[in-house]
Order: sequence, then structure tokens, then C-alpha cells
Amino acid sequence: VETAEISSNHIRPLGQLHESFIIAADDEGLLLIDQHVAHERILFDKFRRSEGERQIESQNLLLPETLDLTPAQLAAFALVEDELAAIGFGVMRLSGRTIAVKSIPTDLPAAETRNVLAEILDSIDAEKRGGAKTTIRDDIAASLACRAAVKINMKLTPEKMQWLIDRLLLTSSPTTCPHGRPVILRLTMRDIERGFHRS
Ligand SMILES: [Zn+2]
Repeated sequence: VETAEISSNHIRPLGQLHESFIIAADDEGLLLIDQHVAHERILFDKFRRSEGERQIESQNLLLPETLDLTPAQLAAFALVEDELAAIGFGVMRLSGRTIAVKSIPTDLPAAETRNVLAEILDSIDAEKRGGAKTTIRDDIAASLACRAAVKINMKLTPEKMQWLIDRLLLTSSPTTCPHGRPVILRLTMRDIERGFHRS
């Protein structure tokens, strides 16, 4: 089993393993696709692209979510306020260390708002503050993608599996997630035939 090189676009989902991995087939054999990291790669590319094109896709929250930040989080917020706006967060400063979130990126479930913002602000620690803006943007996009992606242990319909596969193939790097982990494992017909002593 090796990390896949994707040479065929005719990947068909066959089912799900432990509601976490998509089992699929193409002309060359079998593929196992990690559903969470596959979706993460799709969303990461989307967030980075929409930011570059300034096409913000944002959804309004029914009720603005207020967050009381720590002093360190507030300092981090001041640094990434523009990046957060560019990616679809509509945030207002209230008095003191309180902020109100009025809108969030469309792909993010509303229930994840609080967690993802805390995670982003906590990750902008002292050592990163001198870092390049692109690193900070990548980190924000990666946090968002992780929170918004389908989880493992989640049942997917055949349509959703096909959608994930089709969209994954359109990304900049279908075989690795934004953190560099593999997305697809492949078992070729050669591997299979060799395993059954048919070669
Ligand atoms: Zn993740």
C-alpha cells in the first residue's frame, strides 16, 4: 500500500469503512480515502483562493456570538483582524476585551464559531507574530478547514462520497492534507494479484 498518484479521474466510491474512510475503485485498483482530511484539503484550497480573489462567502449568525478574550487573545486578534475579515468573519469590537461575531465563513457550522476563533487566536503566539503573513493565513485557513470538514465516524451518502472525490481531484494537492498527511492510500491490481499469488 502506497500513497496514491492520481492518474485516473474515474474514481467510483464503493462504500465506507468504519464510517471514516471511503473505499473506492478506479482502473488501477482500490483506494482508501480519509474523509476528514480529503474535505480539509478541499476547504483549505477554497479558503485560500477566496481570500486571494476577495470573494468573501459569509453567513450571518441568527444571534451574534459574544466572546470574552484573554489579554493574549485580544493582542492576537488585533494582528489578524484583517485576515479574519478577508476569510469571511464579521467581527465587532465591544467594550473591554469583548468581541461580537456577526457573520462567519459559509462552510463553517455555526456551533464551531467559538472553538475555531479561540483556536486561531491561541495559535498566533509570540513566536509567530514576527512571521510572514502567508504563514498566518495558512494557519487560519487550516484551522477553519479542520473545524468545517466532515468528521471521522460520520456516515456519508454515496452522493456525498462522490462529491468529495470529485472536488478532491480539483485541488492543488489531492494526495496530501494541509498538514502534509496522506489523504489517499492505494492498493494496485498488481499488489492485489501478488497477494493472491496470481502474478
Ligand atoms: Zn483536521
